[in-house]
Amino acid sequence: MVSYPVRGEELTVVEALKVRALPEGSCDSLIEFLRMYRDAAQMVMNELWDLNEKLSKKKLHEMFYGKLRKLGFRAHHAKEVYVYAKSIVESARANSGRKPVLRRLSARIDRYDYKLDLENRILVLKLHSNYEVKLKLVASRGRVEKYRGWGNYELVVKYDGKGFWVSVYFKRVVKSVKLKTVMAIDLNFDNLTLATFTLDGRVVKLKRYKTPLRKILTHRIWVERIQKRYAKSWRFVKGIRRAIKKHGERIRSISWDYAHKIGDLIAELALRYRSVVVLEDLEKLRENAKRGRRFNKKLTLWFYRRVQFCVEYEAGERGLRIVKVNPRGTSTRCPRCGSKLVEDSYRTLRCSRCNLIGDRDVVATVNLYMRFSSKYSRCGGLGVPPNAPKPDEAPSGMRGNKDEAMKITSNYINLYES
Ligand SMILES: [Zn+2]
Repeated sequence: MVSYPVRGEELTVVEALKVRALPEGSCDSLIEFLRMYRDAAQMVMNELWDLNEKLSKKKLHEMFYGKLRKLGFRAHHAKEVYVYAKSIVESARANSGRKPVLRRLSARIDRYDYKLDLENRILVLKLHSNYEVKLKLVASRGRVEKYRGWGNYELVVKYDGKGFWVSVYFKRVVKSVKLKTVMAIDLNFDNLTLATFTLDGRVVKLKRYKTPLRKILTHRIWVERIQKRYAKSWRFVKGIRRAIKKHGERIRSISWDYAHKIGDLIAELALRYRSVVVLEDLEKLRENAKRGRRFNKKLTLWFYRRVQFCVEYEAGERGLRIVKVNPRGTSTRCPRCGSKLVEDSYRTLRCSRCNLIGDRDVVATVNLYMRFSSKYSRCGGLGVPPNAPKPDEAPSGMRGNKDEAMKITSNYINLYES
């Protein structure tokens, strides 16, 4: 779980680490605590339910703090219990439900009531009546490494009848980056194309990376071939199943490997150029013609999702923003006049109305950029100045030979001749 409150100069990133926990010694006192906690929360809920009015924190405290303390709860336990009970009652009312009944053994614990040693993965919980319990968290060093330097402010401990689970909530403040450029990313079967524009539409960086989709597809074709050849038996013969599994593993590892690398690379570039990153909204992609009718659509979409996931993740870690725009028509429409483009030569498109000629992938990034700026220049949401090009106006990178952008883009097949 990651969340990014957007307003303000700083972003707070919250993540939960959920792990199994093994108590050292007896777990009786922990189970007793969880029972008490549940029963106390139920008691508070019952009273709130009958009361049928909204209570302030202060009133809640007056009503329940003393009672809960008498039961043996620590100060912060008491607070967690009544806040939790109130939230359950409110959500049950909002859903016009019945009075909720708690069954599960689970408790929220404030950071004053536990000690977490992340290095050794040891957790000490402070329970009722001065009991303490020490738990060993079952997580690799690598998994907890990430949270070094993060703050943690709360955890939830659960008992599922067999064992204990702990979710620790970590948070970290990342400084949000002041935006100077827009980076549009077009992903298609062969290439990932990245173009960075200034807010007034000049191209300052253009890069193209090959995707491993052809390689992935060969593995997929092997799987299909095997399944076809042994149509009746492949499910049952161990050797055949193993061969299929092997190809599947290769597909996954090639994809993740690429996605991680490209995600990191894009985020680093975006940080250097202070970019907002514009991605295609894959939800709106379903029937986009350019996306290889011949190829396995499901597989490519699955691959795009992985790439986007990594880009979003890495960008978030660096305090960068991601915006998704509808990709419909971005690789078939002229960015200057909006007419339909026709194929001119290999991977090059031409507009029959205004004669613009452009590389297919680059045209797509220009269109993505323009879609972004038309979406945000009007509401000014992301600090795009009012002089950003309107959607019907071509960015200056497209205007003629003298433009600076042309020098940068000239390595990439004959761009934008009008
Ligand atoms: Zn045109």
